[in-house]
Amino acid sequence: MASILEDRFEEREALIAELEVNGHLNDPRVEEAMLAVPRHLFVPDELADSAYQDKPLPVGNGQTISAPHMVAMMTSALMLEPGDRVLEIGGGRGYHAAVLAEMVGPKGHVTTIEYVPELAEAARERLAEIDSKVEVVTGDGFDGYPRNAPYDAILVTCAIPTVPDALLEQMAKTGHIVAPVGSTQSMLTVLRKVGKMWQKDEMGPCLFVPARGRLGGENPDESSD
Ligand code: SAH
Repeated sequence: MASILEDRFEEREALIAELEVNGHLNDPRVEEAMLAVPRHLFVPDELADSAYQDKPLPVGNGQTISAPHMVAMMTSALMLEPGDRVLEIGGGRGYHAAVLAEMVGPKGHVTTIEYVPELAEAARERLAEIDSKVEVVTGDGFDGYPRNAPYDAILVTCAIPTVPDALLEQMAKTGHIVAPVGSTQSMLTVLRKVGKMWQKDEMGPCLFVPARGRLGGENPDESSD
């Protein structure tokens, strides 16, 4: 186990240093978490040599793994604490979920929802291999995942037209939702909940794969409740 986690460690260190220099990363806990997760295991084998460049990579099924600077910025914005319960929507092959799991530690819990069954399965396999206790759920993130709610933080990693009510409702009393909102050109949006109040902050434009299914605005049938 030690060797699989230490593999390509210097490449990870160099990437973290690059993100720091470029101003994308200045949170030591996020740095530690990103150093701990071997990104090359979460990309297709033939792309392992590119895994420590700061760019998104295709992971199959028309989907991508987000660029490391985006993972760093979004993770910092979530303001995670050890022991937090986190929901991610758009699990892909599980890289960002593994970083979140490092952030919240053994007392925390990470649930990730992935729409494409093949990717969800690949995520389960990889996460188990590095002994990361993320719960991977296959499905559409539109309804969140009430079973593990309330969440201290919710991360969305596909572009959504609006933040669905279910996600707002599944938040704990305080915490952050980070999501790319808007379909063609998305705005990286942070919603901060304090009691019954929400504060909205926009971090800047960003590019994400569009959400599919109901989360993406398909069949918006909200008549059921
Ligand atoms: N967090 C991932 C990045 C995934 S890219 C990582 O660390 O690599 C966005 C992912 O969102 C894709 O895998 C896509 O299949 C998924 N997705 C798209 N629509 C979705 C939906 N409605 N519910 C859940 N996941 C969705």
